[in-house]
Amino acid sequence: MTATVDTQAAEAQALARRAELEKRFAGLSLATQLYIDGRRVDALSGATLERISPRDGRLIAHVSAGDAEDVDRAVASARRAFESGCWSGRSPRQRRQVLQRLARLVEEHAEELALLESVDMGKPYTDALAVDLRVTVQALDFYAEAVDKSYDEVAPTDRDTLATITREPLGVVGAVVPWNFPLMMAVWKIAPALAVGNAVVLKPAEQSPLTALRFAELATEAGVPDGILNVVPGFGPTAGAALGRHPDVDAITFTGSGEVGRLFMRYSAESNIKQVSLELGGKSPQVVLPDAPDLNGVAKAIAGGIFFNQGEVCSAGSRLLVHRAVKDELLELVVEASRRTVVGDPLDPRTSVGALVEAKHLERVLGYVRGAVDDGARLLVGGNRVLEETGGYYLEPTIFDQVDPGMRIAQQEVFGPVLSVLTFEDTDQAVRIANGTDYGLAAAVWTKDLSAAHRMARAIRAGTVWVNCFDESDITVPFGGYAQSGFGRDKSLHALEKYTQLKTTWIKL
Ligand code: NAP
Ligand code: MG
Repeated sequence: MTATVDTQAAEAQALARRAELEKRFAGLSLATQLYIDGRRVDALSGATLERISPRDGRLIAHVSAGDAEDVDRAVASARRAFESGCWSGRSPRQRRQVLQRLARLVEEHAEELALLESVDMGKPYTDALAVDLRVTVQALDFYAEAVDKSYDEVAPTDRDTLATITREPLGVVGAVVPWNFPLMMAVWKIAPALAVGNAVVLKPAEQSPLTALRFAELATEAGVPDGILNVVPGFGPTAGAALGRHPDVDAITFTGSGEVGRLFMRYSAESNIKQVSLELGGKSPQVVLPDAPDLNGVAKAIAGGIFFNQGEVCSAGSRLLVHRAVKDELLELVVEASRRTVVGDPLDPRTSVGALVEAKHLERVLGYVRGAVDDGARLLVGGNRVLEETGGYYLEPTIFDQVDPGMRIAQQEVFGPVLSVLTFEDTDQAVRIANGTDYGLAAAVWTKDLSAAHRMARAIRAGTVWVNCFDESDITVPFGGYAQSGFGRDKSLHALEKYTQLKTTWIKL
């Protein structure tokens, strides 16, 4: 009786919270135009793109859709601002102060930005606030603080020479980002690029432009000069390609699919050989050895590692590689953990798995599910679209057992809440399977044996290897891939390398 009353009270509270957030969203005046030279402007063609919220399939906004001529305007503005020295010519301390002001403004607007993110692309509002916005603020503070504490070098040449090695900004940086962590990933690029003095033109994904547009206004409010940060929403093949091919863009920093990453290398080769860095997809293995500590905790981390953010995470632990000796026990616990995840409205505080970003993506993920069944994998949990009556794009947490390393579901990036379970007999085989895809973004190893952990961490080809944890991260550590997961790193001081070039000045004394 009391339990029922408690449940009803919790339900009423959750629904009230959801209604409050809906009302708050309806009351926001959305920034929906391009942001160029410190102002909102329409696309020159007048074109717009429709933003459909994946939570209920409803239209939430028409956003200006930029094309080549808008990219030209944005790049021209960025170039002018860069060359004027209004930003690159300020002292590092002054740039620090502006970026710190921006960090504080983002902090003050965290709830609004989290709400925009959640409604625009479907992730739970609570995660948007606790993860995306927290990390965004951290990144702004980190690069702000780094820039006036970095020194250049004097080379150890002979005594009648003074050779200095200084880092200089590149000029105009084009940033092109995906929809899964729209603001956070944009700021992983914008913050270091601006900190060292560049001007930036950002093209957000067509599915998630709202936070970037609002962020650009906050940047102006914080004191980032006009033209130093421009945002041109639009479609990949038009706005994205125009930025990639632009002769006056000095570098492209990209996060997204391998297919589009390849295009950016081609754009560079066919235009001005602009520098390109690519953060691409992954097929990260979670390798569980027979002596793994606390299988219950491991199971939770495995479920969290694939269901967080609807599985729309480039480093998602989409392959569970488990030793035969502990497979049955672990799998049972993972299934239990998956049943505890709550698929639902991103604005409902009880939700842990929100909506997939768009109908087309839901179809794509369902295609992978059908393909895995056809290939002979055993569907253990889930596999179905749910909550269809809401009009939103929801998929149950899904687990496939008896997956062979060669199957499509074990090789290709699904980018949804779909886990593949593979079994191994010894660590050599585990390493072979772990390394047996085109990707190399991240991996985890679960074991009590310190030596085994070190050996596996060395043997696995990936930009990040977690031991007895998953998805741990901090702005102080680099993030990026080996192999076809790309090259160049976001986060940490290493990210600054992508946005600077080295100048040698040789002085004969
Ligand atoms: P995507 O299709 O590659 O899109 C990424 C960005 O590129 C979007 O802004 C997109 O614009 C643009 N784009 C698309 N086609 C283009 C073209 N022909 N020329 C120039 N630009 C173009 O990726 P997505 O579907 O948005 O995101 C999912 C992918 O991103 C997954 O494969 C995932 O693994 C990867 N990802 C990687 C990381 C990482 O750090 N390694 C992080 C997150 C995501 P439109 O929005 O208009 O298509
Ligand atoms: Mg896309």
